[in-house]
Amino acid sequence: MMKTSMVCIACPLGCKMEVETITNGNTRYIVTGNKCPRGEKYGVKEMTNPTRMVTSTVKIKNAHLSRLPVRTSDAIPKDKIFECMKELEAVQLDGPIKVGDVIIKNLLGLEIDVIATRSM
Ligand code: SF4
Repeated sequence: MMKTSMVCIACPLGCKMEVETITNGNTRYIVTGNKCPRGEKYGVKEMTNPTRMVTSTVKIKNAHLSRLPVRTSDAIPKDKIFECMKELEAVQLDGPIKVGDVIIKNLLGLEIDVIATRSM
């Protein structure tokens, strides 16, 4: 039996939770400290397949700023964030770009896109 402490980031309340891992044949997780069911879902996911939305910026020419804000269209596995940032660093755009434009299609083969969050 193992206990992991974590803070739920599914809403601004930030409940302090504990996830108990029970391994007797099948692995089960018991989440405590959550104020709603989303916390339980988050706690189990964090133990099995942690993911995060990525927000960042990429280089852009012919625009009034030198970097365009972008985000992933969905959460990506936490262990892919470093590779994702390397992909974003290699991007060089030419303006104009509209909010919602796809900047990188199928990022790292994850079937998730990187999209512009601002027109520029
Ligand atoms: S457990 Fe529910 S109330 Fe608590 S931070 Fe997560 S989403 Fe918010």
